[in-house]
Amino acid sequence: MKLILASNNAHKLREIKEILGGRFEEIVTLREAGIEHETVEDGETFLENARKKAHEIAEISGCCALADDSGLCVDALGGAPGVHSARFAGEHGNDEANNALLLDKLRGVENRAAHFTCAIVLARPDGSEVSAEGYFPGVITEEPAGENGFGYDPLLFLPEYGCTSAQLAPEEKNRISHRGKALRALLEKLDGQA
Ligand code: IMP
Repeated sequence: MKLILASNNAHKLREIKEILGGRFEEIVTLREAGIEHETVEDGETFLENARKKAHEIAEISGCCALADDSGLCVDALGGAPGVHSARFAGEHGNDEANNALLLDKLRGVENRAAHFTCAIVLARPDGSEVSAEGYFPGVITEEPAGENGFGYDPLLFLPEYGCTSAQLAPEEKNRISHRGKALRALLEKLDGQA
């Protein structure tokens, strides 16, 4: 069976192939499937956004589709930036501005607990779905540190590892991250249905 990833992100494709590759004959990006479609991500939760993306692509393509939505939730900010993580400071995907705004908002704040969340939905053309979530907890640093990863990685300090998420080797991050955990939980559910 073919699986279409509701994204054109090569990094996500590689990670998803590593974990779900054994379950599907072929896993392709939207572009590789010849689909040009932009989902309006207006959900209030990660799961709502992932669900919307996955079902739209399953309906358009007639194939199984996999979508994820992820972001950073900071306890002292009531879970913000949450579903607005990519555009926290206004411009979509401006990591530097997003990180500067987050540090600004947390200046002098003692409770710096935070976690990345990832929601994953696999939608089938018959309208059924399987979903899973994964979390990656840490504390927000006072200054960015590390060159790997993307987004808020330089700000999430992982006490067990003594470094930020951006200081982990990429394979190590994939092993313990929210997306890896959500994908493995999804695989377990799919195996349970087989
Ligand atoms: P998306 O779900 O991949 O579109 O991610 C939304 C936003 O959440 C990104 O633009 C990042 O700001 C943030 N984010 C999600 N996952 C990570 C991560 O693993 N590291 C750092 N930032 C992340």
